Amino acid sequence: MSIVPFPDGAEKYDNFRESLLGSPSVLNEPKILEIPEMDLQAMWFGGEFGREFTGTQGEKIEIVQFGHWNHSSGPDFTETAVKIDGELCRGDIEIELDSKSWEQHGHGANDAFDGVILHIFLNESSDEFYTRNSRHESVPQLKLDQNLLLYARARDLPEAFPGRCLAPLHDMSDEAVASLLESAAQFRARMKYDRLKAMADSTSARQTIFQAICEALGFRYNKTAMAILSQRNPLPDLLSLNPAEREARIFGAAGFMETESYHSSLSEDASAYLKTLWSHWWKVRPEVEPETEDRKIQWKLSGTRPMNHPQRRVGALAAVLNRWHLLTVIWERPGEDLEKKWETRCDELSHDYWENHYTLNSKPSKSPMKLIGKDRQRDILGNVIFPWCLGRHQDLWSTFAEMGGVDSNEKLRRAQLRLFGEGSPEAKKFSRKYFQQQALLQIYHDFCLEDASECRDCPFPEQLKQWQ
Ligand code: SF4
Repeated sequence: MSIVPFPDGAEKYDNFRESLLGSPSVLNEPKILEIPEMDLQAMWFGGEFGREFTGTQGEKIEIVQFGHWNHSSGPDFTETAVKIDGELCRGDIEIELDSKSWEQHGHGANDAFDGVILHIFLNESSDEFYTRNSRHESVPQLKLDQNLLLYARARDLPEAFPGRCLAPLHDMSDEAVASLLESAAQFRARMKYDRLKAMADSTSARQTIFQAICEALGFRYNKTAMAILSQRNPLPDLLSLNPAEREARIFGAAGFMETESYHSSLSEDASAYLKTLWSHWWKVRPEVEPETEDRKIQWKLSGTRPMNHPQRRVGALAAVLNRWHLLTVIWERPGEDLEKKWETRCDELSHDYWENHYTLNSKPSKSPMKLIGKDRQRDILGNVIFPWCLGRHQDLWSTFAEMGGVDSNEKLRRAQLRLFGEGSPEAKKFSRKYFQQQALLQIYHDFCLEDASECRDCPFPEQLKQWQ
């Protein structure tokens, strides 16, 4: 049962956290951050950095149109529109990790880049660098906020051992622990809403929810790959196609069609399914398929259970898109029965092929499999739908607070172990609900992932006495 009204708890936890850590993850000095370039481009195109900036020369920059993600060689985004100091410019955008890559990749001498109106980068070299095209014209530069990336980035999991905060947490009253967890969970939900809101302001609410659901379907290893798939196949384009065309397009755009041949399929139904996909895919292939290796979506297969094979995830996405109009009602008109409605709609999802196969080229499974399992359903609900709805309907917090937790995962187990100790009654008591699990993950993120002293210098245990 909820004891803290939303978003009061979020404010309280925010103040508590900031009083202990300052603004965590804020870089005083610029750093060289490493991230796959395509991941950075996906964050940009999804609107996570926002649309209003200050250029390196103090220019006021506003992105009017994010344009199209180029699927062939040349600048990354084409047909964009950008206001620079109030003047509307149309052209291309190039995004790179480092400012100097412009010259290292030869863009300055390549006339294909003469249409670039904005050069964006994450890391700036210590020497001053001016971006110039082959006509020796200066190209405005924009350095992205590294802090945004730092916060979004998954960090390595620290060692799993019971932490120094175990005793003070044990000594706190149940009510105080409950209020701490509820507040941390509210803070996390509000952060998720802030991200979705920034993305919706840059793109649209529909596209944002669509991207966020795709990310959740991609789960841990293929979150970015699914985000890119959603960005390269915007929702309105997909909804304008019939189901068979749509399915072929997303499988083709994912890059799965080129590696699978129906001549060498392991089963008759896999062969028949692939043939149908190909009968639609070849028509749109030239416009959709990435032409260069570096534009192809990178999928991760290692560590992925067969049920979660990326091809099955794309199959589940096809089923979601087939029922999109029914699903949208859930977040457009949310009520107390939100969880029940979402579960019912998810359980109704069906697909003749993907309920019975692991990949595009596999024999039928022994028994039918759900397209979206229980934990994934909960994660989409708890990470996307509830945060989105809470931004508009604060009273839904008590409904969210009733939602049951997921089975478990490695991060959650580590957080439970560090904060409450292995198999302790507290660990069980305080992680039954989804919001409690989210709270443990938030504290783990804010304190354990920031700590490099094996708890010794962490301020959390001492300050817990202050939590009322
Ligand atoms: S790092 Fe801090 S919050 Fe994490 S287990 Fe250690 S004392 Fe607790």
